Amino acid sequence: MQILNSATFTAQKNPHMSLIVVGSMAFDQIETPFGKSDRIVGGAATYIALSASNFISPVNQISIVGGDFPQEELDDLSARGVNLEGVQIMKDQKSFFWAGRYHMDMNSRDTLDTQLNVLADFVPVVPESYQGSDFLMLGNLAPSIQHSVIRQLRKKPMLTVLDTMNFWMESSMSDLEKVLKDIDVLLINDSEARQLSAQYSLVRAAKEIMKMGPKYLVIKKGEHGALLFHGDAVFVAPALPLEEVFDPTGAGDTFAGGFVGHLARTKDISFENMKSAVIVGSAMASFSVEKFGTTRMKEIVREDIESRIRQFVDLVNFDITLI
Ligand code: AMP
Repeated sequence: MQILNSATFTAQKNPHMSLIVVGSMAFDQIETPFGKSDRIVGGAATYIALSASNFISPVNQISIVGGDFPQEELDDLSARGVNLEGVQIMKDQKSFFWAGRYHMDMNSRDTLDTQLNVLADFVPVVPESYQGSDFLMLGNLAPSIQHSVIRQLRKKPMLTVLDTMNFWMESSMSDLEKVLKDIDVLLINDSEARQLSAQYSLVRAAKEIMKMGPKYLVIKKGEHGALLFHGDAVFVAPALPLEEVFDPTGAGDTFAGGFVGHLARTKDISFENMKSAVIVGSAMASFSVEKFGTTRMKEIVREDIESRIRQFVDLVNFDITLI
């Protein structure tokens, strides 16, 4: 059993495990009540890789970008131990573009624009050198694309984790149902869990969703933390109460990178260790929201992560004597 406390946790990388990350690499334009960004680098797989590369190397990235994607961003990811062999660069095309606007409470947002560009015809190809990877993280993408990566792997990973969103439930539900049968852990937010299960109670929603395939389910609740379900067991993780949330974009992906990164680093996929992984994911997400885009994720070092995890341990640690 893996016990996560401030004395035992280290954010050291495990160089003997490998993780495949699939998802978008993008340009985002973000508006919050506090400001508006220019076109900045984002994308689900960018956030996942930036987060997971603190725990594991290599991160075997699968994505697609246009000729407009900055070379220095690719170089920065490489320097962090992200293998870009599976990232297709379409020189004469544009990268995926997404624009969103957050409301005052920062838990809800409107998508203002989605330009698929290179993502429209994306056919992911798993490089030979990625075969045999131990963990698979399928970031938010069309479920049929996510499924095609599972099918290309000759060895089943120890754990397959999938993130999705309401957009795919509305447009590609039958593809989503198919891929759900072939994964181990599903990560979604509370409104998506309700939509997918047609249940309002999150406990009932979790039971329905686990019947669809995944044995583990993480329901993210933004500033209210996250719930981990497995069978009849449930674990609750808080979110760090922050004075200021600057930009929540990528928080879910950063959570995913910390969650799967911790599991891969420790090579332990027990429910007990998944509880720790939810805390690590929450800690990583709490950094991501502190600045616009990926800025904060590029600044943090091992000591920052360790002290943030300690804060989380203290947040939920209490003594009680039961008579
Ligand atoms: P999150 O805030 O964790 O839900 O993720 C935000 C990231 O997802 C942004 O950086 C976007 O570039 C990316 N994104 C938004 N919509 C899509 C989509 N339909 N497919 C793939 N990636 C997307």
